[in-house]
Amino acid sequence: MALDILESVDLRPLNTFRVPAKARALVALHNREEALVLAEREKDSGPYFFLGGGSNILFTRDVEETLVKVEIAGKRIVEEGPQGALVEAGAGEDWHGFVAWTLSQGLPGLENLALIPGTAGGAPVQNIGAYGLELKDRFHSVEVLDMKEGKVRVLEAPDLHFGYRHSLFKEEKGKDLLILKLRVFLPLPWAPVLEYPDLQKTLAHVEQPTAKDIFSAVVAIRKRKLPDPAVVGNGGSFFKNPVVEEGLYQELLKEYRGLPGYPAGEGKVKLSAAWIIDRLGWKGKTLGRAGVAPSHALVLINTGGATGQEILELALRIREDVQRSFGIRLEFEPTIY
Ligand SMILES: Cc1cc2nc3c(=O)[nH]c(=O)nc-3n(C[C@H](O)[C@H](O)[C@H](O)COP(=O)(O)OP(=O)(O)OC[C@H]3O[C@@H](n4cnc5c(N)ncnc54)[C@H](O)[C@@H]3O)c2cc1C
Repeated sequence: MALDILESVDLRPLNTFRVPAKARALVALHNREEALVLAEREKDSGPYFFLGGGSNILFTRDVEETLVKVEIAGKRIVEEGPQGALVEAGAGEDWHGFVAWTLSQGLPGLENLALIPGTAGGAPVQNIGAYGLELKDRFHSVEVLDMKEGKVRVLEAPDLHFGYRHSLFKEEKGKDLLILKLRVFLPLPWAPVLEYPDLQKTLAHVEQPTAKDIFSAVVAIRKRKLPDPAVVGNGGSFFKNPVVEEGLYQELLKEYRGLPGYPAGEGKVKLSAAWIIDRLGWKGKTLGRAGVAPSHALVLINTGGATGQEILELALRIREDVQRSFGIRLEFEPTIY
């Protein structure tokens, strides 16, 4: 089977920050067979870099590895019973399209994760989360191809080390694993997830919100709060919310009254990185052609023509400032390439 390998590919249309970079070689994979051919052919010559929708990656240089663009399509209900439904998506399926499709099939459960850009294969990489739900809450398994061994394996939740915006795929051991397929389990009876204050506010007038009501509310809130990458280049939240010891939180509260903190178990507290960045006056500020979104302090934007280096420079400045003032080191959410 012949694989179509493109050379010197412009990556600007393939990343939501819309920053310039080139891939020396790009191969698009449409099914498992093509993936196996690639693994066999390049077994010893690797390395690779996998790309889905490019919505969680900041390119700061050209890509020297073979860039593997995952375009494996297909979605289906694997089985349905009184306990719930097992549903599958090819790794290249658009995530939001998949969420909308499950609802159209009468299968609620993913509605809180609506309108998150990217692919189904990208979703488990950082255990996407929003509005009180994380992928791990609905995750069943992934089919992966180990590019080094050329073997297909199925991995289940305990294998994946899911955490807050974390999974095995972000660890050294997961670097050679290409996700081919994602399976989620949507349990019955369905129970709405409505803890998130913004969601409660938006749905206050609805007596018993359905999954479709929640889906529409999430879409409306996200459209209001987050810049649309089709209009303004961005990668969603750039910083993770820091998790600190309760003692440090209490100390910080003395100086920063109103600093929000949420119990994170084991005597730890999750702080709002958005609040901290806003408090330090970064919201809406620009540094050259990179900026902090006026509507959301966690979102770094390309105001027009910025490079990945310029956006990284801004992120580093913010990180330094937070470290100096709060004694906390912020972690980046997107992959920095
Ligand atoms: C406007 C906006 C809003 C966002 N909101 C949220 C949010 O609410 N919650 C949230 O969690 N995230 C959010 N994100 C981040 C992003 O949408 C998710 O992380 C998404 O799952 C990334 O998927 P992707 O296909 O675009 O991955 P990419 O950006 O293409 O890749 C991200 C990482 O995953 C790896 N990868 C991708 N596909 C595969 C594969 N098939 N096999 C192995 N590795 C792979 C890549 O190598 C890379 O390291 C947002 C982004 C934007 C632009």
